[in-house]
Amino acid sequence: MIRFERVSKRYPNGREALSELSFEVPGGEMLFLTGRSGAGKSTVLKLIALLERASRGEVWVNGQNTAQLAARRIPQFRRGIGVVFQDHRLLRDRPVFDNVALPLVAADISFREIDRRVRAALDQVGLLGRERALPLELSVGEQQRVGIARAIVGKPPLLIADEPTGNLDATLASEVLDLFARFSAVGVTVMIATHDLALVRSSGRRELRLEGGTLAAATAPTTMGAQPATTALAGAASAGSSPPPPPADDRLPRDIATLVNPAVR
Ligand code: ADP
Repeated sequence: MIRFERVSKRYPNGREALSELSFEVPGGEMLFLTGRSGAGKSTVLKLIALLERASRGEVWVNGQNTAQLAARRIPQFRRGIGVVFQDHRLLRDRPVFDNVALPLVAADISFREIDRRVRAALDQVGLLGRERALPLELSVGEQQRVGIARAIVGKPPLLIADEPTGNLDATLASEVLDLFARFSAVGVTVMIATHDLALVRSSGRRELRLEGGTLAAATAPTTMGAQPATTALAGAASAGSSPPPPPADDRLPRDIATLVNPAVR
């Protein structure tokens, strides 16, 4: 689960990326985080993965108040979060097996167990048998599924994804969403930051829409395919105050090693 309680985030340059943001995501829910560029989506994901700290307010993840997490417990905390990126961030010179195994290598796990878990993860994303392929030998959709296998190989209770369908056509995007839905169906909480409003609407899932670092609107889950009703929330952001788009290198996060290998830090 995730809980933000009046969370504000001010970066060292003075930019307030989030302002008094509150929301709660119960375990097992799959939902979307939307909003224009610069609205604060990546900042929310970074606070969840503890790549950034809140300036004010409380961020709870998997039952843990992140402000109270001792530094030595951060690697273990990160093992509870799978991260999927738009550009999947695979190591091009390493086969699929190594890429998926990466989060397990630092943990104290036998090779036999790593082998078993990597194959199970590849099986879940429909890529069993491709262990020896190099990422560039795979299609774009397959590469993204390797990235998802890597995110779930440690069986985290929470998956966060930053524009995971950004490079995919509509068919591949909906396949990726189907995969996420399958994890959610077995209890994994899934939060997906995206620009793709058509995808969000067709999913019928809850949408948290950010505007200028605060919650503009949220929709309740609806039946598949129905047009969700928008509920304006108290304290909605004032219109017309959207901040400028972030610099191109501002995506989540630069240091893949920190996330895919929780022992790094
Ligand atoms: P989104 O993911 O919705 O595009 P971000 O969370 O990346 O939004 O950015 C929210 C705001 O915070 C933007 O104004 C952006 O420029 C700013 N911002 C993001 N990261 C940093 C940073 N590391 N330093 C300074 N400002 C940042």
